[in-house]
Amino acid sequence: MYHRNLAHLNPYELHKHLINEYMLTKPGATKLLQRDTSRDKTDHDVVRENHRFLWDDETVDSWEKQLAKKYYDKLFREYCIADLSRYKENKVAMRWRIEKEVIVGKGQFVCGDRHCEERNELRSWEVNFGYQEHGQKKNALVKLRHEVEEKTREEEFDEFLEDLLL
Ligand SMILES: [Zn+2]
Repeated sequence: MYHRNLAHLNPYELHKHLINEYMLTKPGATKLLQRDTSRDKTDHDVVRENHRFLWDDETVDSWEKQLAKKYYDKLFREYCIADLSRYKENKVAMRWRIEKEVIVGKGQFVCGDRHCEERNELRSWEVNFGYQEHGQKKNALVKLRHEVEEKTREEEFDEFLEDLLL
């Protein structure tokens, strides 16, 4: 069973496994690589399109592929990337991650500060993230991953982040 195999993986290995699974099976993946065939359909294009249809059908019946998709979709709205360079002035900029960052684990296995590459001793902060969607203001509780810092800076940083909490 897949369950048992996946249980042996550490969080980062599981991440890589599921992302890989997702990237190999997501319908948009081939679409992105496909050039516009609407005007010049060749036999080759037809074969390729049909191949994709079959391949898409295949994705539906696999538990692991569904899991990979769920995992991937969830990741987009779970962690955010922050610009913390001006946190001493009480200014922080936050955004959703882009696909590239989701895939490599930036903001999840690597610090969510856009200027930082720290991978060790990361801690999750729940942050109220305000954003715009279709002209509407929205809020979401998201996670900001950040390393535990040395004593002085840590306390300062704690206070700053606590101010951001709901
Ligand atoms: Zn950092």
